[in-house]
Amino acid sequence: MNQLPQDLHVHTTFSRHDGAVTPEQTMKMVAAVAHAQIVGISDHLESITDDFDVYAETVRSYGFVVGTEVNGADWVAEAEAVDAQYYVYHCRDREGDYRGAERLLATGKPLIIAHPLILETDLRRVPPQCLIEINNRYVWRSDWEILRPFTTSFSFVIDSDAHQPHWLNQNVARYVARELGVSETLLFDENRERLQFQTAKAGKKL
Ligand SMILES: [Zn+2]
Ligand SMILES: [Zn+2]
Repeated sequence: MNQLPQDLHVHTTFSRHDGAVTPEQTMKMVAAVAHAQIVGISDHLESITDDFDVYAETVRSYGFVVGTEVNGADWVAEAEAVDAQYYVYHCRDREGDYRGAERLLATGKPLIIAHPLILETDLRRVPPQCLIEINNRYVWRSDWEILRPFTTSFSFVIDSDAHQPHWLNQNVARYVARELGVSETLLFDENRERLQFQTAKAGKKL
């Protein structure tokens, strides 16, 4: 099967408060589809914060990497407290959200800036150690040329942001990455262990 290398932004029925998730988008279904070699589940922290251990255990039992999607500065304290392997982060164009990104980076875990175009994130204010997401669900709604000046100053990941089984692909995001001449950065290996990766501008290993 032609698997994608990595997909670290996938939702499942654990994202109870996200109306776009269908009942069929179970962890089991995501595993059965096996669209990517490395799959990270990134359910919304709002939905899983109270039973994060059950969530993390379930994610691991399917061989996935344990992530969570963090809705800006208001959720940074909770995010610091949970045992996630990486964060997908909503960074709106607000002072507190940029500070929140710095706090999450201080945990030493990879921090992916989620769909920056749709949130109007000012990438000039984002720490260069962050990874920038090219998001299959949203990238086509915006002028992705906005990303071009940043292609040499950040490292990028490509994600589906799948909420339903038929969203388990990265077709549009990969087209955009090709247009921009961006190559993706892999963050984990098949054993769900962190890979060493370079952040482009800082040239610093995380
Ligand atoms: Zn999001
Ligand atoms: Zn999401």
